[in-house]
Amino acid sequence: MPGFRSPRPEPDGAVEPARRAAGEVLNVRYRAGVVGERSRVVHAATWTPRGVLITLCGMPLDPALVEESSGMPCMRCVRIAADRANGDG
Ligand SMILES: [Zn+2]
Repeated sequence: MPGFRSPRPEPDGAVEPARRAAGEVLNVRYRAGVVGERSRVVHAATWTPRGVLITLCGMPLDPALVEESSGMPCMRCVRIAADRANGDG
């Protein structure tokens, strides 16, 4: 989005996640200022055909409000991903 300025500078360079093929997993979290810092855990999310990200733990995310990032992971997403990797999914 040209001209868009985040209300706060992001030290790690916040970028709206690019659209990817459905099923590709992204690591995303809410941008600074959207939610409290304690809620800014990193979820594993995939694109839906409707242009919304949905996390493994079942939360829909507006792509305009999130950034691809690393950081403190969402434990529910971690557990679900581990279960899937173990062949339970
Ligand atoms: Zn999650």
